[in-house]
Amino acid sequence: MPDMENALYVVATPIGNLGDITLRALDTLRGVDLVACEDTRHARHLLDHHGIGVPTLALHQHNENEAAARLIRLLGEGKSVALVSDAGTPGVSDPGARTVAAVRAAGLRVIPLPGPNAAIAAMSAAGLADERFLFIGFLAARVGARRTAIAELAPVNAALVFYEAPHRVLETVTDLVELLEPQREIVIARELTKMFEQIERMPLGAAPTWLAADANHQRGEFVLVVSAPPPREGIDAETERVLAALLAELPVRQAAKLAAQITGEPKNALYARALELKNALV
Ligand code: SAM
Repeated sequence: MPDMENALYVVATPIGNLGDITLRALDTLRGVDLVACEDTRHARHLLDHHGIGVPTLALHQHNENEAAARLIRLLGEGKSVALVSDAGTPGVSDPGARTVAAVRAAGLRVIPLPGPNAAIAAMSAAGLADERFLFIGFLAARVGARRTAIAELAPVNAALVFYEAPHRVLETVTDLVELLEPQREIVIARELTKMFEQIERMPLGAAPTWLAADANHQRGEFVLVVSAPPPREGIDAETERVLAALLAELPVRQAAKLAAQITGEPKNALYARALELKNALV
C-alpha cells in the first residue's frame, strides 16, 4: 500500500453495481486513516464487500459543518481522509461541497477520485446528438416552484438532466410535457447499473402514458434527460451555431451584426435570437 498523502480524497462510489469502483478508489479507501460517509452502515457494506476495515465517521447534511471541522483537525494532524456519499460522486446532489470548501479554505489539499455518477451514466447511454447538456439535479418538490423552474429552463439551448424520486416522477414528467416544446424527446433512465436497469427514449409527450402503463416503470431511481429545444423557425442550425459562437465573445448587437454578414440572414431576427440565447444562458 503506497503511503497516503495528507489530504481529503473525494471518492466516487457505485450507483448500484458494487463492481463499479475504480482500482484507485479501492487503494485509497484501504490506505486512508478514516472514511467520512453519509451513512456509516451503507459505507460499511461497501467497505466490507471489499474487505476494508478502515474506521468511518458520519458526515451528512445535518452535521456537515461539525463533521468538516473534525476532519480539518485530523488533516491538520497529518492524517488522510476519504469522503464518500451513499452513491456516486460526493457533492453532486449529495453532501460534500461544504466540507470540500472548508478543507480548501483551511489550506489543505483536496484530491478528487472520479468514478460513477448517475447523470453521466444516463447521458452516455442516452444517445442524444445535443452538444450541450445542463445538469439540474432534483427539481423543487413544491408544484409551483417546480413549474416555475421548468418554465425558466424551456428556452435554454441544451439537453436538460434531472434526478427524480419514484413517487414524484409521473408528476414531474407531466409538468415537463406541459411546459416544454412537444418536439423534444425524453430518455428515462431507471435503476442504472442494477438488475432492473431500463433506458427508454421516446417523444416527451408519450412519457406520462409510458410511466403509467406498468407499475414497474415508476419504481427505483431515475435520471430524466430531455433533448434540447428544436432550432427556432427561420434560423437554421448552422446560423444558430455561428450566432452562438459570436455571442460567446461579443456583445449581443455586435454578434448579431456579424452573424448577419456571415450568414446573410436578417439582422433583426438574429438580434432577437441573440437576446434569447443570452438570457437563457445567464
Ligand atoms: N451523487 C449521486 C451521483 O453522483 O449521481 C447522486 C445522488 S442523489 C441523492 C440520488 C439520485 O441520483 C436518485 O434519486 C436518482 O435520481 C439518481 N440516481 C442515483 N443512482 C441512480 C441509478 N442507479 N439509476 C438512476 N438514477 C440514479
